[in-house]
Amino acid sequence: MRVAGPPASSATLVGVRIDLHTHSTASDGTDTPEELVAVAVEAGLDAIALTDHDTTAGWAAAQHAVRRSGRAGRIRLVPGAELSCHCPDGRGNSITVHVLAYLFDPLSQALVEEQARLRARRRSRLHAMARRMAEDGFPVDPEALMAQLPADSPGGRPHLARALINGGTVASVDEAFARYLGSDGSYYLPRTDTPVRRAIEMVTEAGGATVLAHPLATTRGPTVTADVIAELAEYGLAGVEVDHPDHDAPARARLRALAGELDLITTGSSDYHGSNKTIRIGQETTDPESLERLAQRCTGSEIIE
Ligand code: AMP
Ligand code: ZN
Ligand code: FE
Ligand code: FE
Repeated sequence: MRVAGPPASSATLVGVRIDLHTHSTASDGTDTPEELVAVAVEAGLDAIALTDHDTTAGWAAAQHAVRRSGRAGRIRLVPGAELSCHCPDGRGNSITVHVLAYLFDPLSQALVEEQARLRARRRSRLHAMARRMAEDGFPVDPEALMAQLPADSPGGRPHLARALINGGTVASVDEAFARYLGSDGSYYLPRTDTPVRRAIEMVTEAGGATVLAHPLATTRGPTVTADVIAELAEYGLAGVEVDHPDHDAPARARLRALAGELDLITTGSSDYHGSNKTIRIGQETTDPESLERLAQRCTGSEIIE
């Protein structure tokens, strides 16, 4: 499919701002899908992707908000999700990677079932992390924490971080990750994720396209080698997220060069989580040609405007 919107001449595309990675309250962001659309319009963005972790529950509300926003608040919405996966790192270990999935059929049976499984696992893991902290005397109530999550939503560490802020243990989400919840923190528990090749396969079969999220974000934990990215590209990966707040300039340069060699689409995105992170929506952006290339590969769902 083609991306509706301004014609693809460089003159008209100057200033088009697209952010392809954001989270709402459907996962671990703090803005509802409606608020997220309003925030994006306010920030002057032309398009956003909603990419909640392991769920499409926010799509309907975001689509409704976009259709309602009228001429003054014109914005396009790329429906998506961020899938938690495990992947060989190219050095003999298995690590966590995130795969952004765009414009797939949200009713695809395989995806629906896998996402439901992941959400259930995420909730039991969050509950277990909270219980361990409560047992050690931290002022968190595991039952209250779980009760406050929307039904069937994937819990995430930012929810536990918020509980620690409310209990006065830490001053910020970042501090909670640095002291307790990060992958080397004493209360961290791993998730049970999807094999990355299976995720690429499921999204592709559902008419969508995949982009490897923040592949060189070393502050989050170990990362994959270039050889692994090349293998994933052969397996159907469509692109890599190059401009991401967790990538420094050398990481961006390396990824851009690799994407050129492998003919992968390059994207840029804020990974906005509302007030769970200090990042602004639209802080990093994707050029319109990249979105066009991505959308051309997809038949599973439409860009909404
Ligand atoms: P989880 O999905 O439960 O493993 O938690 C990871 C989520 O927390 C991701 O959405 C990250 O964006 C967010 N996150 C990871 N590290 C940090 C950090 N240091 N500070 C704030 N949020 C983080
Ligand atoms: Zn998140
Ligand atoms: Fe991520
Ligand atoms: Fe994310």
